[in-house]
Amino acid sequence: MTNHVERFAPSPTGLLHLGHAFSALTAFEAARQVGGTFLVRIEDIDVTRARPEFEEAIYEDLAWLGLAWEKPTLRQVDRFDAYKAVLDDLKSRGLIYPCFCTRKEINAALSAPHHDGSEEGPDGPAYPGTCRALVEDQARMSRNPYSLRLNMRKAIASLGGSGIIKKLSFKELGTGRKGKPKKINLDPDYLIDSCGDIILARKDTPASYHLSVVIDDAFQQITHVTRGQDLFAATSIHRILQALLGRPTPLYRHHRLITDDAGKRLAKRDDARSIRAIREDGGTLEDVRNLLGFRP
Ligand code: GLU
Repeated sequence: MTNHVERFAPSPTGLLHLGHAFSALTAFEAARQVGGTFLVRIEDIDVTRARPEFEEAIYEDLAWLGLAWEKPTLRQVDRFDAYKAVLDDLKSRGLIYPCFCTRKEINAALSAPHHDGSEEGPDGPAYPGTCRALVEDQARMSRNPYSLRLNMRKAIASLGGSGIIKKLSFKELGTGRKGKPKKINLDPDYLIDSCGDIILARKDTPASYHLSVVIDDAFQQITHVTRGQDLFAATSIHRILQALLGRPTPLYRHHRLITDDAGKRLAKRDDARSIRAIREDGGTLEDVRNLLGFRP
């Protein structure tokens, strides 16, 4: 069997819509064409928003879409120990720090006149750094909720500095010359000024999307990541985390976003475009495949 492992990694926080179907079908077909493997991973780290009924709906919709995957299905709630081990490692290397800021405090600091107004990263404006230099205070940590942030400058320094970071890259499938993969190099200024000290563990859940996705893509030996263009900017973060954690870098394919008739990107709240709604309206798999531009 070819070593080609794809995954579809939905969060069970709503119903799947056409955009998800496009990701899942693209990944599944790419694997099938070369006799590779297709996996599903349930990204349910957000325990406040994940719901068992949405997880059930995901399985039902994927089966309806004609997709089969290797079992058991990995669920991220079962991976909290693995995330903690990595966070402990990063802590012992002095690369993460606790942050007690509320969203309101961050917004206030960001709107202060001295803020430099750099381009936004994938998670919004870079964190202004309020808690970066705090001396570790165990008493405060036991009293107050905190997130864990990566000290981006230190992380870059620990890898050898900006010059080394510029040489790190990932490959984007099908976008280079003659449809070849295109090499995308990391930009240390973008990482520092736009992404900044990204969250690796949230106040309400012991990992962030960026951390868990990197650890689990490596754990599941994913060779090809297929996902929407909206996550392209996050891939620079994933690439530097892979370097910091000694994890391999898969190939990436960030596909076009599926929009509604008005050209607006589909979101989970657009229930009308959910696979379930299409199904309940009498839509067939063929309708969905046609709509998404898949050949029969
Ligand atoms: N769980 C993410 C989502 O549903 C996708 C993550 C990924 O494909 O890397 O948007």
